[in-house]
Amino acid sequence: MIYEKISLKKFNTFGINVRADYLAAFKLEDNAVHFFKQHRGTEQNYLVLGGGSNILFTDDFHGTIIHPEMEGIAMEGKKGADIIISAGAGVLWDKLVESTVKNGLGGLENLSLIPGRVGAVAVQNIGAYGVEVKDVIEKVRAISLADGTIREFIASECKFGYRDSVFKNELKGRYLITKILFRLSTRPKLCLEYGSLKDELSKLGSTSLANIRKIVISTRQAKLPDPGQIGNAGSFFKNPFVSEDVLRNIQKNFPKLPVFRDRSGGVKIPAGWLIEQCGWKGKRIGDAGVHEKQALVIVNHGNATGRELFDLSEKVRKSVADTFGIDLEREVEVI
Ligand SMILES: Cc1cc2nc3c(=O)[nH]c(=O)nc-3n(C[C@H](O)[C@H](O)[C@H](O)COP(=O)(O)OP(=O)(O)OC[C@H]3O[C@@H](n4cnc5c(N)ncnc54)[C@H](O)[C@@H]3O)c2cc1C
Repeated sequence: MIYEKISLKKFNTFGINVRADYLAAFKLEDNAVHFFKQHRGTEQNYLVLGGGSNILFTDDFHGTIIHPEMEGIAMEGKKGADIIISAGAGVLWDKLVESTVKNGLGGLENLSLIPGRVGAVAVQNIGAYGVEVKDVIEKVRAISLADGTIREFIASECKFGYRDSVFKNELKGRYLITKILFRLSTRPKLCLEYGSLKDELSKLGSTSLANIRKIVISTRQAKLPDPGQIGNAGSFFKNPFVSEDVLRNIQKNFPKLPVFRDRSGGVKIPAGWLIEQCGWKGKRIGDAGVHEKQALVIVNHGNATGRELFDLSEKVRKSVADTFGIDLEREVEVI
């Protein structure tokens, strides 16, 4: 289905009312293949847009938005205690998590309630509560936007990193992901080390996948703004990794600086804490604001334009650079 001169307000969780010249929605992989083959060799400006929960539009989009709507969750096979599950790029991410938890398959439970669709999770390597989706991705199936050919990427070819993958770097804007295969387990190794997960679980009595999902959902609902109520795209910036030297320097003036060390010994600082120290928590300029509970989230209080939200984010970023000497990297993609 192809739409012309369409508003993207419903297609992005900031609720920005920009327009796209065209939007092409595909329920079937074959139709998308045919479309890209037809346009092979012509100059096209494409943008793949899933749920629009990690994107900030600052202007109308002159080109064609490609919107994957491929549905379907299926069992593809078994490898010992592991089960391979496939999901279409258009499936709502949390529907997939809900269904796997219900079926006793572990691996995705900590990633409950993250907005967006399945296709984007391999672009972004989504993560929460100590888990990243890369740990369970087996294969990514995609179509080349340039000529409609199909390619399957095994996990190592996706070059996953912290909120990063090959699809954000050398292959940026070159593929439409249509399906992802996940390797889940009937005997999962649970990740309960993050935050208060363990304490909350002990209150519920049993350590089941359903209980982990329940706690993650209620914690997220208490901490993060619901895009259905107030426009936002979750964390606007990534948590920065710093060297031990930089850490020591900051700690001289800010001894209470919280620090996380990852398994490889890297030092990560919560960007929300840095932003809060700069006095931005709960501040607003017109309808563009910094969330009152989580300073890492930029919010649209109503009618902010994408440009106003972007300008606010740059002010926040400059404050953090001036105060801590740290240049925050955006997690949200600005178009
Ligand atoms: C309230 C809230 C909480 C959030 N919490 C988290 C969190 O805990 N952890 C986390 O990691 N993220 C979080 N996010 C960010 C966001 O939900 C994820 O990045 C999500 O995976 C984006 O999915 P989407 O379908 O909305 O992608 P979009 O925003 O539509 O797209 C994101 C990027 O992926 C590309 N893309 C999308 N689909 C495809 C496809 N099928 N093929 C090729 N490229 C594609 C787009 O071109 C774009 O570059 C949160 C967002 C919100 C609003």
